[in-house]
Amino acid sequence: MNWEPWTGCYKASDGCTNCYFYGPYAKRYGQNTIQKTDKFDWPIRKNAKGEYNIKGNKILATCFATDFFLPEADEWRKEAWSMIRERADIDFLILTKRIDRFLVSLPEDWGEGYDNVNIGCTVENQELADARLPLFLSYPIKRRFIACAPLLEAIDLTPYLHGVEHVTVGGETGREARLCDYDWVLNIREQCVKADVTFWFKNTGSFFRRNGVTEKINPYKQTGMAKELDIDILNGKRLF
Ligand code: SF4
Repeated sequence: MNWEPWTGCYKASDGCTNCYFYGPYAKRYGQNTIQKTDKFDWPIRKNAKGEYNIKGNKILATCFATDFFLPEADEWRKEAWSMIRERADIDFLILTKRIDRFLVSLPEDWGEGYDNVNIGCTVENQELADARLPLFLSYPIKRRFIACAPLLEAIDLTPYLHGVEHVTVGGETGREARLCDYDWVLNIREQCVKADVTFWFKNTGSFFRRNGVTEKINPYKQTGMAKELDIDILNGKRLF
């Protein structure tokens, strides 16, 4: 399940270039104006009986149409943290390209981290991996994962896999999408195997090169094709 407390975004790094919520497609799929959604308080909404609409023991992934750590959301985030704290029975999965704003965005009682918060740091190339992941690993976070999405080149994550639970890899989607090479994916998978970290190949992207041949993949088939390749190592874990 997804929770979008606010929407709208703008470019943070190279992986954002073809984002649906930024740039040429923003008007069609999203928008650049950052604003609260009508689902803002969704995790704590209750029904007529006074029970939460969302039952416990769920995973709620947040901010796919924005970034949780945008400075424009600083005031709203205080309330979002309070909802996350209240719903200790839900695992919140927060994916960001703005990990550098993590420390200034924390609630006062964060301590070593909330047990029910899993932070995902996105790195789409080696330069960003080398810039973001040392920061990410230095922060007080109880549960961490890395998302190489969109994967834009081969990345060596080996110096950073210690202390990370999981790695997700995906290609870029869209008419102008950049290529995703299966060798890059397999190489990251191998790094995960060696580090005993779970791995999920979530989608091929629109232009997928395998054995030297590039194929154009329909957006609706990208997840299925990645699954068919059968290279995930999830050990029973469900991340999304
Ligand atoms: S940070 Fe995420 S939502 Fe924002 S522009 Fe980049 S890819 Fe899009």
